[in-house]
Amino acid sequence: MKKVVKFGGSSLASAQQFRKVGEIIHSDNGRRYVVPSAPGKRSDKDTKVTDMLYQCYQTAADPKALDEGIAAIAARFQEIIDGLSLQLSLEEDFETIREAFAAQCGSDYAASRGEYLNGKIMAAYLDYEFVDAAEVIRFDEDGEFDSEKTNDLMHRRLEGLETAVIPGFYGAMEDGSIKTFSRGGSDITGSIVARAVHADLYENWTDVSGFLVTDPHIVENPETIDTITYRELRELSYMGATVLHADAIFPLRKEGIPINIKNTNRPQDPGTLIVESTCRQPKYTITGIAGKKGFCAINIEKDLMNSEIGFGRKVLQVFEENGISFEHVPSGIDTFTVLVHQSEFVEKEQNVISGIHRAVSPDTLDLESDLALIAVVGRGMRATRGTAARIFAALSHANINVKMIDQGSSELNVIIGVKDEDFERAVQAIYDIFVLTHL
Ligand code: ASP
Repeated sequence: MKKVVKFGGSSLASAQQFRKVGEIIHSDNGRRYVVPSAPGKRSDKDTKVTDMLYQCYQTAADPKALDEGIAAIAARFQEIIDGLSLQLSLEEDFETIREAFAAQCGSDYAASRGEYLNGKIMAAYLDYEFVDAAEVIRFDEDGEFDSEKTNDLMHRRLEGLETAVIPGFYGAMEDGSIKTFSRGGSDITGSIVARAVHADLYENWTDVSGFLVTDPHIVENPETIDTITYRELRELSYMGATVLHADAIFPLRKEGIPINIKNTNRPQDPGTLIVESTCRQPKYTITGIAGKKGFCAINIEKDLMNSEIGFGRKVLQVFEENGISFEHVPSGIDTFTVLVHQSEFVEKEQNVISGIHRAVSPDTLDLESDLALIAVVGRGMRATRGTAARIFAALSHANINVKMIDQGSSELNVIIGVKDEDFERAVQAIYDIFVLTHL
């Protein structure tokens, strides 16, 4: 078995956590390629090293603040080095980093140093080769991740290596300047490495024992999902489930490599297995429930709209021209609604309104804000009748008004729009009907 193992920040926050990670890696010799994050929080009140780096970089113009910031970050790493009794000095690295910060090297470079340095420590601790992600992960001139070039570089670099540590979260542009993925992006690096080495399994080690059916801040002690497909996960991650970066499944999909989400603090737990497809029947009709608040609906009405060819395109073009992506477009005979993220929309709302008037001369146009969208996701829904009926019965019992319904053509998800204030109660009601009453 060839495995790629990625460890998140909380798994590497201290020397004690590093030891647990070391034990996990040594207990299975298939665990050959290791992708570390930067050290995370040691306690609730602590600060992640990545955040310290961003903050330090912001104050880099002031030499005193810069020195203090660098010293605090260096202390975090030194504590780990000392705790592991390693003969490793990061002094020169910190000198380079200090100079680069003072020379305004860019916030991506700044943030990436957390993974870079933690990777060096990890490589020294495991006695694995260190492979700088800047060598093997490429972004194109527009700053977009270049998957094929990366796969090629990574594959060639790792081909002859029995074991290696590749820091997460960043890569480089063609000219060598460092570029990061979005926050939580080490998950993507793990996935890229797994694809490049044709791994049998990508283990993603974190501080929870897998994906929960829903958000534990809303539902007390929700159950863990044992197996989930990439597509189900994509729906859930997009709608707010945060255990794995939403983009992390793309490189793996190309090879059908499974991902196992595991808990560094409870390695005996099976965690969640994410697969391309499976014959395993889900325990419940639904696999998960996720959602987000803060959407806004633009409702457009016009008599005989449905016979006007190109109506939808003209409306959506206004959003495109304003650089706003839309989430859903439920429509009726003479009505057309566009759902967008409120935060993206507010600044440009007047431009959009006038743009729509110019483009399609609607009879009425009104806005409804503070909407939440809930995704009820499950491969089991296709084979089960009455899922929608159960969802809506549960919501009606909870006295919740449903603003919008959208069932994806894959029959894998039902998206429901409710008022923001009803969001938590709606999630609880749906969870109860499918999981607690086990329907
Ligand atoms: N350290 C980065 C962050 O805090 C990336 C990661 O942990 O995946 O977002």
